[in-house]
Amino acid sequence: MKEYDIAVIGGGPAGMMAAVAASKTSKVVLLEKNSQLGRKLLITGGGRCNITNNKPIKKLLNSYSNKNFLKHSFYSFTNEDLFSFFNLDFIEEDDNRVFPKSEKSSDILKVISDKLDDVDLIYNFEVKSISDDFVINDKLKAQKIIIATGGVTYPQTGCSPKNYSLTSQPITDIKYGLVPLITKKDLSSIAGVTLYDVVISYKKSRVKGNVLFSHVGLTGPGVINLSNEISESISYNLLEDENVDLDLEIAIDLIPELSREELQDKFNKDFQLKGKTKLKNYLKLFLTNSFIEFFLDDIGIDSEIQLSNINKKAKNRLIENLKRFIFEITSFNKDLSKVTIGGIDLNYVNSKTLESSVIPNLYFAGEVLNLHGPTGGYNLKIAFSTGYLAGISASQK
Ligand SMILES: Cc1cc2nc3c(=O)[nH]c(=O)nc-3n(C[C@H](O)[C@H](O)[C@H](O)COP(=O)(O)OP(=O)(O)OC[C@H]3O[C@@H](n4cnc5c(N)ncnc54)[C@H](O)[C@@H]3O)c2cc1C
Repeated sequence: MKEYDIAVIGGGPAGMMAAVAASKTSKVVLLEKNSQLGRKLLITGGGRCNITNNKPIKKLLNSYSNKNFLKHSFYSFTNEDLFSFFNLDFIEEDDNRVFPKSEKSSDILKVISDKLDDVDLIYNFEVKSISDDFVINDKLKAQKIIIATGGVTYPQTGCSPKNYSLTSQPITDIKYGLVPLITKKDLSSIAGVTLYDVVISYKKSRVKGNVLFSHVGLTGPGVINLSNEISESISYNLLEDENVDLDLEIAIDLIPELSREELQDKFNKDFQLKGKTKLKNYLKLFLTNSFIEFFLDDIGIDSEIQLSNINKKAKNRLIENLKRFIFEITSFNKDLSKVTIGGIDLNYVNSKTLESSVIPNLYFAGEVLNLHGPTGGYNLKIAFSTGYLAGISASQK
C-alpha cells in the first residue's frame, strides 16, 4: 500500500491550490474523479474566468455572510498573492471583477496545473469512502486528507451530494445559490432583453443590478445575487427534497432614480406638454425600447394611446407598475445554479487551519464548505484562499 503525507480529494481550484501549497514540504497525491482537472474552472465567467474580486480586503470580506470564518484564509492568501502566483496579465472590469487579460480560463488552469509537478496525480479516481485510519482504497493511504470536492450544482463537472457523507463531519442544509428564477409570466417575447441598473426586491432584501430575461424567467447579475437571499430564506434541503416549488413574488423598480411622487409630477407635466405623443414612444425616456410593448401589454394599457388620453386610473396603474413590476416565481432554474449554499458545517472546522475539530488530520477547502459569495469573482476567491490555507496547514502540522 502506498502511503502519502497528504491526499487531496478533488482537482478543482481549491484542491489544486491545496496540493500545490502542501507539496512544498509534503508528499502529496491529488485524486480527481474526472479524466481532467478543473472542469468547472474552465466554464467560469463564460470561459473567461472571473478569477477574483479586487475590492480592498475589508470591503471584500464584508460581501460574505461568513466573513469571520473567511478572514484567516483571505489574509493568508491575498489577491496580491494570487496575482503573483499566476503571474499573468489581468484586467479589472466594473465592480472590481478581475479576469486574465487573455480572457481564457484555460490559461489559469494551465498555470496551476504546471505547478503540480511534485504532486502525484491520479485521474478517473472517485473517492467513495474514507476509513477511520484514512485508507482510501487497498492501494492508497494518507496521514492527512484534504477534502475539496466542491458543491452539488453542475454535476456534469464532477460534483455530487454523495461527497458530504465521505466522513461523519456535520453538514448544514444544502441549497441552490446564484440561480436564475423561473417565472409564471411567459417571457419568451422578451428573451434576451436586459434592464440595466434596476432595483429588484424580495421582502426586505433589495439588490441594484441588471436583469436579463430568458425564455423561462429572470437572470442577470441582479437577479442572481438576490437569488442567494431568496434561497436562504426558504426552508428546504436538496439532500432530501427533489423538487423545490416556489410561490413567491419579486418586484422590480424599473425607474429607481425617481420616487413615486417625482414620477407623478413629471407625468402630470409631460402628459400635458406632450399630449399627442404615443405612450410607447414617451416611455423610451425611461425603459429599454424592446421591453415597452411587453410591459404595457402586461399591465393592460394600450401602447398606442396618446398621453393626453390616459385617464387618472391608468396613469396610477402605470406609475405603480413602473415602481413595482411584479413577477411571480414558481421555481429555481436549478440546472443553472452556479454555487451551492451550505455544506460542511463551519462550527466544526477551525477557521485558522481549516482542520476539522471532530476528526483530527482532516481538512476542507473550497465550495464543499458552507461558504459562498455573490457573483463577481467572490467564489473562486474562496476556493483559492481556502485551498492555500488548507494545504499549508496540513503540511505544517
Ligand atoms: C457556470 C459557472 C460559472 C462560474 N463562474 C465563476 C466565476 O467567473 N467566478 C467565480 O468566482 N466563481 C464562478 N463559479 C463558481 C466556481 O466555479 C466554484 O465556486 C469553484 O469552482 C469551486 O471550486 P472547488 O475547487 O471548491 O470545487 P470544484 O470546482 O467543483 O471542483 C471539485 C472537484 O472535485 C472533483 N470530485 C468531486 N467528488 C470527487 C470524489 N469523490 N473523488 C474525486 N474527485 C472528486 C470534481 O470532479 C471536481 O474536479 C462558476 C460556477 C459555474 C457553475
